[in-house]
Amino acid sequence: MKPAKFEYIAPTTLDAAVEALAAANGEGKVLAGGQSLLPLLNYRMARPTVLVDLNGIKDLSFIEMRGDIVAIGALTRHREIEHSTLIAAKLPVMSAAMRHVAHLAIRNRGTIGGSLSHADPAAELPMMAMFYDASLRVQGPAGRRTIAAKDFFVDALTNCLEPEDIVVEIEFPVLQQDGWAFEEIARRFGDFALASIAVSIRLGLSKIEHARVAVMGVCDTPLRLEGVEERLGEIEVDDRTPDRFAELVTTSVTPNSDLHASAEYRKHLLGELAKRTMRTALAAKG
Ligand SMILES: Cc1cc2nc3c(=O)[nH]c(=O)nc-3n(C[C@H](O)[C@H](O)[C@H](O)COP(=O)(O)OP(=O)(O)OC[C@H]3O[C@@H](n4cnc5c(N)ncnc54)[C@H](O)[C@@H]3O)c2cc1C
Repeated sequence: MKPAKFEYIAPTTLDAAVEALAAANGEGKVLAGGQSLLPLLNYRMARPTVLVDLNGIKDLSFIEMRGDIVAIGALTRHREIEHSTLIAAKLPVMSAAMRHVAHLAIRNRGTIGGSLSHADPAAELPMMAMFYDASLRVQGPAGRRTIAAKDFFVDALTNCLEPEDIVVEIEFPVLQQDGWAFEEIARRFGDFALASIAVSIRLGLSKIEHARVAVMGVCDTPLRLEGVEERLGEIEVDDRTPDRFAELVTTSVTPNSDLHASAEYRKHLLGELAKRTMRTALAAKG
């Protein structure tokens, strides 16, 4: 199929893009990498009357340090994040997750702003935004504001943006960590995840002092498991820690069954991945 008719606008500044979107009275959409939006247009599942193309706004693409925060422009392509030495050094869990994002051709075009806005519950970057407790800087007709990742993802494929809002950049605080790991299982490498988990730990003398845990593919939005993070600090680190961690994780999620996997299978996968991640994270300390 071909898309329904729309007006195409290609601004070169952010202000012009916001203005064009606001003028569309809720009927406009922005185009970034087009990897998710174009199929929706072609199937006429999205029928905007105005399409505002962000690709001409060059200052929306960057990766930079701001103190102990890594800021990434919304138009930065998946492939640039995947190959960034700054991301590898400062946000290693995200760096490890990137090669699981779709396939090479899609990573060449897809953008971080598009991935977060699309809010697929089995996508890696929304999960990373939750994992790192990221903040999204968003511009609308009333100016710029900040939205915490935990408030941004409302439901599957649903975010909290107004129709006139554009995600401009995302700020990721750097985590202090002794060990970390990212694991994911998909039906084929590069497909959307059936289950995935990311872990980062800081170790004390005999216990885990700080933990960060996020999962995806097992709920309608990516989840940070703060309850599990707290409980991890109460247990002694020993050979049983990976199993105990897996139990904490699996009892904290209630996956849905769908045509890709049953709820029980997703839970089982998540438990196995949890064990793997904890073993890797603990091994990093030696
Ligand atoms: C076959 C296939 C497999 C895939 N597998 C994976 C996978 O395994 N993991 C994964 O994470 N992703 C996967 N994707 C999705 C891919 O990562 C997309 O690139 C991404 O979801 C959307 O990014 P985009 O830049 O292409 O956005 P677009 O398709 O241009 O836009 C997506 C949505 O976000 C909105 N939008 C875009 N940018 C902004 C912005 N700055 N502000 C506000 N709204 C905005 C658009 O209006 C639209 O509603 C896959 C896609 C395909 C086609």
